[in-house]
Amino acid sequence: MADQRKVGVLGGGQLGRMLIEAANRLNIQVNVLDVAGSPAKQISAHDGHIEGSFKDAAKVKELAQKCDVVTVEIEHVDTHMLEEVAGQVTVEPSWKTLRTIKDKYAQKEHLKQYGVDLAESIDLEGKGTEGLKEVGIKFGYPYMLKSKTEAYDGKGNFVVKSEENFDAAIKALGGRPLYAEKWADFSMELAVMVVKTKDGVLSFPTVETVHEDSICKLTYTPPRNVSSATSQRAQDLAKKAIAAFEGKGVFGVEMFLLKDDSLLINEIAPRPHNSGHYTIEACPISQYDAHLRAILDIPIQPYQLRLKEPAIMLNILGAATPDSDKKVAQYALENSDASIHLYGKGDSRPGRKMGHLTLTRPTLREAERAIQPLVDFVDEQKG
Ligand code: ATP
Ligand code: MG
Ligand code: MG
Repeated sequence: MADQRKVGVLGGGQLGRMLIEAANRLNIQVNVLDVAGSPAKQISAHDGHIEGSFKDAAKVKELAQKCDVVTVEIEHVDTHMLEEVAGQVTVEPSWKTLRTIKDKYAQKEHLKQYGVDLAESIDLEGKGTEGLKEVGIKFGYPYMLKSKTEAYDGKGNFVVKSEENFDAAIKALGGRPLYAEKWADFSMELAVMVVKTKDGVLSFPTVETVHEDSICKLTYTPPRNVSSATSQRAQDLAKKAIAAFEGKGVFGVEMFLLKDDSLLINEIAPRPHNSGHYTIEACPISQYDAHLRAILDIPIQPYQLRLKEPAIMLNILGAATPDSDKKVAQYALENSDASIHLYGKGDSRPGRKMGHLTLTRPTLREAERAIQPLVDFVDEQKG
C-alpha cells in the first residue's frame, strides 16, 4: 500500500479499536494515546503508541510528533495542545470544532448562530438554586439540567420535575458547570452519521436510537414507522448542523423527532458514534472507513454510504453479574447469525459498554423477529 501516512488517535477505547480495524485493512498505521492495554492498543502491535492520558498536554504533543494526521475518538481532550501543534501536524476535525463541541452549551450556542433547530437552553453557571427556579418559571417542568462538560451516557444530566428536586439536582451535579434545556417531548430519537470531507458534507442513512436509563440500547436502520420524507429531513438537518463546523471526519448527530413531526438537534459528537456501529455490516463502507478516508482525503462517493440491508444493533452492556456480557456474547454466538463485537475492556460494570452485536435482514421486520430472543436474553441479565 502506497499510503505511508501515520494517523494519531487521542483515546483508545472501543471507537479507536474499530477505527484500527478499518485502518488495518488499508495497512495504515494508527498510533494511539491512552493507557497501556486499552482496547485499541490490544489489536495493534507496533512501537508508535503513546502511554498516557489524552488530557495530558505533553502526551498530546508527543503523539503529534509521531503522526501526519491527529484525530480523536473522544471529545474530552486537551484542545489547547491541539491548537499549538496544529501548525506542524494536521488536526481533524479542527481543534476549534473540538473545543466548541466538548462544551455542550457552547456547542448549542454555536448551532443557534447558524440557524440550526435545537432545544432552548439557559446558562446556569454561578447561578445556584435561584437559577434553577428561574429556569422553572421560563421553561416549566420537567426540564433537563445538564453538565456542560465531561458528559456521556446520561452521566451529567438530571431531570428537574419540580422545585422539590432542587436539592437532589444540586447534590447530583452541583460541582459541575451547568446549563438547562427545555424538555423535548419527543416521540422518537433519531441519529445520523455525517461525513465532512474536503469537498463537502455527506450522510449515512437515518437511524432510530432507543435509550434505556440514558444509555443507547438499540438502533434501527431504517427507523420504525418513519416516512422517507422525515428520514430525509433528519439527514438534511444533520448535514446543516455539521456544515457549521470546521474540519474533516465523521460526526454523530443525535436528534429528537417531536410529536408534531418537527426535528430538533439533541447533540453532536465530533467522531464515530455508537449510533453508527451498524454501518460496519450494513453499508459498503463503515463510519470508521469513512472517518479515515475523510481525514486522509481519500475520496468518498454518496453510494458508498447507502444501506445495503436493514440492520438492528444491540449494545452489550455490563449488567447484574460480572459475566453478564460474556453470557450475552455466548448466547448470540450459539443462537444467531449476528455479528458480534467485543471490546476487550476487562472489568464489567452495570451500564458499561462491553460490546455490541448487529443483525441484518432483507426487511426490518425480519431483523426485528430475529433479534427479539437476543433482546430478551439481554433483559434477563439486568436481574
Ligand atoms: P451521550 O452518551 O449520547 O453522549 P449524554 O450524556 O451527552 O449522552 P444527552 O444526549 O444530552 O446525554 O442525553 C441523554 C438522553 O437523555 C437523550 O438521548 C434523551 O433520551 C434524554 N434527553 C436529553 N436531553 C433532553 C431534553 N432536552 N428533553 C428530553 N429528553 C432529553
Ligand atoms: Mg453526549
Ligand atoms: Mg447523547
